[in-house]
Amino acid sequence: MSFSSETKKEICENITGKKCCALAACYGILLYCNTFSAREIRIITGNPAFAQILPRLFKRAFGFGFDSISEKTGARGKQSFVINDKEKLSAVFGAYGYDIDSLLVHHVNLGVLDEDCCKVSFVKGAFLAGGSVTDPNKRYHFELVTAHHSVSRETYSLLLELGFSPRESSRKGNYIVYFKQSEVIEDVLTLLGASNASMQIMSAKIEKDMMNSVNRQVNCDTANVKKTVMAAQAQLEAISKLEEASILSTLPDIMQYTAKLRTDNPELSIAELAALHNPPITKSCLNHRLRKLTDMAGKL
Ligand SMILES: [Zn+2]
Repeated sequence: MSFSSETKKEICENITGKKCCALAACYGILLYCNTFSAREIRIITGNPAFAQILPRLFKRAFGFGFDSISEKTGARGKQSFVINDKEKLSAVFGAYGYDIDSLLVHHVNLGVLDEDCCKVSFVKGAFLAGGSVTDPNKRYHFELVTAHHSVSRETYSLLLELGFSPRESSRKGNYIVYFKQSEVIEDVLTLLGASNASMQIMSAKIEKDMMNSVNRQVNCDTANVKKTVMAAQAQLEAISKLEEASILSTLPDIMQYTAKLRTDNPELSIAELAALHNPPITKSCLNHRLRKLTDMAGKL
């Protein structure tokens, strides 16, 4: 099951039984479903949990069910839930303060969503019918997609009222409000009653952050080792050049001592090599001696 389906299943388990909220949830579903017109209501879904609660939810909200529910079709087992009885359609439109004969453009009638519990239920319905959330192991994305422009704008405002600031976009004639930040998606899902899904996003984020920091550390270490190795390589070449030219043996004892320690310990960093001296010398003193060796070799 996809992360989105799992999340929807969890939300379906937590859809409240209050009548005001059932009406609000159905409102969200209708404005985000396939068809909500004066001639027909058609909700198509392949989500088993959503398909299971739909008839109950409509019964609770309106006192009647669907006129027809199709058998599952296709590989994903999609079902259509249809109302085309004129009286039922009038009742549904009436419940949201619409006059079925004069409706031109869908708007969210915020008067129906006065209570906070109902606002949340509306978003639950919108998500079940027209939303999705991406597997957090891939990326962080939550969206609500509707064909109605005004509805999308008003859902945007509704989310603002609930304390979120979504972004807006459009795709193929549909209108989208979406979230991209993992923390925000966690909060939205928690609000919608999908706390398990929210937790999964949190742990995916922690895991990703940890991997990133480990990788950064490894990259940093690798870069440092590379730098040390390259510097040491240049010093070793210089020392062997001086040796071949019989110059090394003519240098002061301390220089020969440092050259020998470097030759014997090519992998050590400057700090480690400085500490290896007996008595220990400072890093800058060691750098000074090594630079002198490479300079001399450079002049050969
Ligand atoms: Zn309510």
